[in-house]
Amino acid sequence: GADIGPQKDRVVTEEEWLQKWEMGNTGFHKEQGHPLLQKYLDLLLNGRSGLRIFFPLCGKAVEMKWLADMGHSVVGVEVSEQALKEFFAEHSLPYCEEPVPEISGAKKLQSTSGNISLYCCSIYDLSSSIVGKFDGVWDRGALVAVNPCDRQRYVSLMITLMEKNSSYLLVTVSYDPNKHKGPPFYVPESEIKSLFGNHCEIKCLQKVNDFSDKHRQWGLDYFLEVLYILKFGA
Ligand code: SAH
Repeated sequence: GADIGPQKDRVVTEEEWLQKWEMGNTGFHKEQGHPLLQKYLDLLLNGRSGLRIFFPLCGKAVEMKWLADMGHSVVGVEVSEQALKEFFAEHSLPYCEEPVPEISGAKKLQSTSGNISLYCCSIYDLSSSIVGKFDGVWDRGALVAVNPCDRQRYVSLMITLMEKNSSYLLVTVSYDPNKHKGPPFYVPESEIKSLFGNHCEIKCLQKVNDFSDKHRQWGLDYFLEVLYILKFGA
């Protein structure tokens, strides 16, 4: 695959992610939701209603509320309990908490209406026997937040969670990995193909220039978001 430079060996621990939430270093969170999900939602849903949609490494992504309000059932996973509690609080959604018998120390926070279930644990603790399979995935700030050494493990797990005839919207980022340590990490297109290639059809839908002052301060001179749709067959 293409060179990802010094990022290959970079590791961000769960503890460091929890600290980011505690310190409020959550510049990745998008208050208004992601325009690319709005734009390509029809491709994800493919005319179907009442789907099961998965949000890996969900943070407090507001898109979970959008999809639930449209009648889909949303499942997320996130190590930070603070993030999940902020999600429910910021949308004034009542929820209840219960342990997850299969995963020691894990909790499930579920909206009282029942259509949003958020697991507080590491994604690597999940399996299809615990969470079932999904008709759709919104992966933004997820694969790009996974430590580069764990990408194959992450993708292998995600593949086992895909239902037949499901779609997976994947947002990656592109910038010079020698100039910023990440996350988000740069994931080359060649790596997307080698990670997912044998299991689905991959199409690049759009590349968006997302360069801002934040990226300039990181020392970068370009920053793109790259959206793919992965289609899993029958
Ligand atoms: N997808 C969200 C959050 C992106 S930041 C968004 O678009 O806003 C990545 C998130 O993954 C952080 O909230 C971090 O706490 C969480 N995370 C990191 N490693 C994880 C793991 N192994 N399992 C579950 N969540 C994890």
